[in-house]
Amino acid sequence: MGNGFSFKVGKKLDGRLGRTGVITTSHGEIKTPAFIPVGTKATLKSVLPESLKDLGAQAVLANAYHLYLQPGSNLVDQAGGLAKFMNWQGPTFTDSGGFQVLSLGVGFKKVIAMDENTFQADDVIADDKERLAHVDDDGVTFKSHLDGSMHRFTPEISMQVQHQIGADIIFAFDECTTLHNTRSYQEKALERTRLWAQRCLVEHDRLTKERKGKPYQALFGVLQGAQYEDLRRKAAKDLSQMSMDGISFDGFGIGGALDKQTLGDILKWVNEELLVDKPRHFLGIGEPDDLFVGVENGADTFDCVAPSRQARTSSVFTKDGRLNISNAPHKNEFFPIEKDCSCYTCTHYTRAYLCHLFRAKEMVAATLATIHNQHFIVGLVDQMRQSIEDGSFFEFKDRFMKRYYGK
Ligand SMILES: [Zn+2]
Repeated sequence: MGNGFSFKVGKKLDGRLGRTGVITTSHGEIKTPAFIPVGTKATLKSVLPESLKDLGAQAVLANAYHLYLQPGSNLVDQAGGLAKFMNWQGPTFTDSGGFQVLSLGVGFKKVIAMDENTFQADDVIADDKERLAHVDDDGVTFKSHLDGSMHRFTPEISMQVQHQIGADIIFAFDECTTLHNTRSYQEKALERTRLWAQRCLVEHDRLTKERKGKPYQALFGVLQGAQYEDLRRKAAKDLSQMSMDGISFDGFGIGGALDKQTLGDILKWVNEELLVDKPRHFLGIGEPDDLFVGVENGADTFDCVAPSRQARTSSVFTKDGRLNISNAPHKNEFFPIEKDCSCYTCTHYTRAYLCHLFRAKEMVAATLATIHNQHFIVGLVDQMRQSIEDGSFFEFKDRFMKRYYGK
């Protein structure tokens, strides 16, 4: 309060933790629940910021690790911060880089997409000779994926990097584990993350004072704890109550090891413990069914690379499920991806044209497919918000799920 950042809870979802709300930042408002498209390197791949606004995006999430390596967080600072650098007139987020830095070490892709092969192996993190990252109690040493040079992130460095990048919402540096780690490793990592969270608050406060005159940046604490109820609840309590010299977290990020089966439970556990009046970001979630579970269980914002990544491989969303627009059946379909879709792509182009562009490997294929996919997912979460407002969330969910997944 008084610093340009606030969160106001609106309508609550009956008998559940879901709610609507408004996050206010110095670069504008975000009506929640909201899906935040990912612009990893300060650009939504293949899409201009004007189109991003036009398709309904309220904010963009960039990645601190990538921008630190290229072009350098210092340069983004000189440019006037992330929003100005990328010509985005709206709120921005950066994630701390913890996930990227650590995923170099263990070679996991999306945590949620991991196979549940039951081996438990701390050595994927601890002792693998090929690993590109090494964790200790003070921070993480890692090798750049660009040129192999060695770097080190600590909670303090992550805060410095994120302050230079200048996003409105930034995240504490955490140790992201996988479902393959043993229970005892999860406990150790959780404690490390708790201590790192304290250091992030202290450094964040120092930087906020030092960089007076810059727009206020809200710091979100990140909750780990994998699939264990007691660890997740502990993380939520610890970070909610954490205060360093009167400074506490402005919101929370729910991250780390989880799978489709446990996602709703994990959210319920942590959101029962977290302060009601602070926003909660669910990191890396973008599949329609997961978004419904997320909204129902009290997540306010989401981000995921999937809608764009799938678009670039010609996979586009429809209310009847995803389809591959470059496949032969679409060659002669002279109608849009979705007839009632109001996106730029669907109001101007046919499936036949998109099919042609993908087959001819034309660059604009990615642009048009990305605009549609982002509009679909951003719009889906917008409709969830609307349905909480008018009391029809569960009807909307049933209708959508039956048609999309055919069940
Ligand atoms: Zn469309």
